[in-house]
Amino acid sequence: MSEAKTLFTRIIERDIPAEIVHETATVIAFKDINPQANTHILVVPKAVYRNALELAEADPALLAELVRTAGAIAAEQGIAESGYRLVFNTDADAGQTVFHVHLHLLGGEPLGLFGHPGKGEPQE
Ligand code: 5GP
Repeated sequence: MSEAKTLFTRIIERDIPAEIVHETATVIAFKDINPQANTHILVVPKAVYRNALELAEADPALLAELVRTAGAIAAEQGIAESGYRLVFNTDADAGQTVFHVHLHLLGGEPLGLFGHPGKGEPQE
């Protein structure tokens, strides 16, 4: 029996709708359904790898393509000059929820610090 399709494979196959902003034969990019910044786009290889390390080991050129694609989308979205953040979450402590590698492109406003416990909570 084949493994269940990932959520992002279902978006690639148009089984689940998404606001797609970029697509090639190898990569798709769409707006995050729960944006954490004014601009929050997920850049996803169509091939399924669990995380960035698995992708880097299997296909470094495809990893580089994700980064180049994120840069091109940042320019299209008008945030290349103001700056942006690229994030790969990996496993539990990083809060990875979808195990089909994806590069978060975040920007469009000052993003502040990250990586502290209680993210998004007001600090005492
Ligand atoms: P992770 O936490 O795995 O790094 O990121 C998964 C991201 O996928 C989250 O930011 C989440 O909001 C986004 N996401 C989850 N389900 C959907 C969906 O059905 N559509 C879209 N566009 N984004 C989703």
